Amino acid sequence: MTATEHPGYMTFSDLGLSEDVLRAIADAGYSEPTPIQAEAIPYVLMGRDICGCAQTGTGKTASFTLPMIDILAAGRAKARMPRSLILEPTRELAAQVAEAFDTYGKHHKLSKALLIGGENLSDQAKVLNRGVDVLIATPGRLIDMFERGHLLLNDVKVFVIDESDRMLDMGFIPDVERIAAMLPPLRTTLLFSATMPPAIRKLAERFLMNPKEITVARPSTTAATITQGLLMLGRPKDRKPGADQKMKREALRKLIKAEQPRNALIFCNRKRDVDIVHRSLCRHGLDAARLHGDMAQSVRMETLASFKNGEVKYMVCSDVAARGLDIPEMSHVFNFDVPTHAEDYVHRIGRTGRAGREGRAFTIATSEDRKYLRAIEHTIGKPIPLMDGDTPPKPVVDEPAVDEPAADEKKAPSENKEARPAKGSDENNGGSSDTQRPKREPRQRRQREEKPRQSNEPAKEAAKGTGRPPKRDDNDTPKNDGPVKGLGDHVPAFLMRDPGTGTGSA
Ligand code: AMP
Repeated sequence: MTATEHPGYMTFSDLGLSEDVLRAIADAGYSEPTPIQAEAIPYVLMGRDICGCAQTGTGKTASFTLPMIDILAAGRAKARMPRSLILEPTRELAAQVAEAFDTYGKHHKLSKALLIGGENLSDQAKVLNRGVDVLIATPGRLIDMFERGHLLLNDVKVFVIDESDRMLDMGFIPDVERIAAMLPPLRTTLLFSATMPPAIRKLAERFLMNPKEITVARPSTTAATITQGLLMLGRPKDRKPGADQKMKREALRKLIKAEQPRNALIFCNRKRDVDIVHRSLCRHGLDAARLHGDMAQSVRMETLASFKNGEVKYMVCSDVAARGLDIPEMSHVFNFDVPTHAEDYVHRIGRTGRAGREGRAFTIATSEDRKYLRAIEHTIGKPIPLMDGDTPPKPVVDEPAVDEPAADEKKAPSENKEARPAKGSDENNGGSSDTQRPKREPRQRRQREEKPRQSNEPAKEAAKGTGRPPKRDDNDTPKNDGPVKGLGDHVPAFLMRDPGTGTGSA
């Protein structure tokens, strides 16, 4: 989306940003602000609270990082007292925001720290001790560090709650409320959410003062076209257990052979299938890697790097990668499994066809997937063109499936999410959201941050009889081998660097 589609054409220099920030924007190659940037930046610079209904792909990260850089340019951070705080639901999103500060703050000397699970606590404490202007954190790790006395939040001037509906989805809202209660009342608070379910509205009412409400519609009308195809498989002739999976693997190889992708993401719903499909592709001589949430962070980073730089052509992955990859020249996406959440289909196929290029996305399905396919087709508002299994898919270039579900579908999932607080969340155990000093439970918190939800059984129960797919399972453990959460909208350079301390100067 560009500013030209926005009422009242604006350039970056109309927004009140400093010359140094404008230079960094020019270096990034942006010619004009996106609608959320055009609307939000002047208000953030004025110190107004923002309630932004926008999702990844709209340029929302820059809508808060750019003005924050200017706001924080004057002043100095004291030891253990960050001057701003950005909460993100996942480590990868946090890393992505850290990267945005590197990009846009390149002509400034702001210091930043990233507090995310999986990084060394004492290294993080050392960085906090030196004083940071920008603190980007996942809620659990932040509370952990606060409880250990490494952190004071009295000096926070700008507080960002990003991806609020995903925080809700992952059971982090009580943590967010606790954190908000530790902050000084005089501050700017910016809340972003792709959807505005009642729980997020309540959060906004509670923590935002006279906010400027900004809603941006679907991202990027400049998105490339994506050719979609659905390969419907019949019953396998062989009735042995696992025969249908074998048939799907054969179909996948056929598709790959017919399509000759430059590179491709191959999505499976379960981690164990990621492993199986990965092994199978390798056995058949295909150059494949795998990525899912059970893998160590360092291995994930290496895998992403080798895929991004073209060392491996195929990456078999869970939905963990769906929202996290921004590889401009990704030629193909294959859904080895039909996603059980319609929005995941949109995010998966949105990994290809980026930046005006053609992309191709193919889904392998069996008759058991029909109800999920119906939900997907309802979400994207059209049928996925059916392919003939024996012939290479014909290009049926369709309007882009975009990076987000249509507005009317967006509402329902999050409203359901709200009705079902994540197991282990404080909503379930009566935890107070207002406590100034949270209870001491750092270990559980760390675990929760990495494996936020323990079971999706209630969701499955709830979904029974409704014809709707069960809710997504955020637990990425082998026991509960359900689909996993997405990341952010691209692979930050940060993830490609040496794990180190995860901190540095912007
Ligand atoms: P976000 O919605 O923050 O995840 O941003 C999505 C992508 O848009 C990122 O890769 C940004 O680098 C890019 N982006 C942000 N602002 C602009 C802009 N004004 N013009 C072009 N690209 C942008």
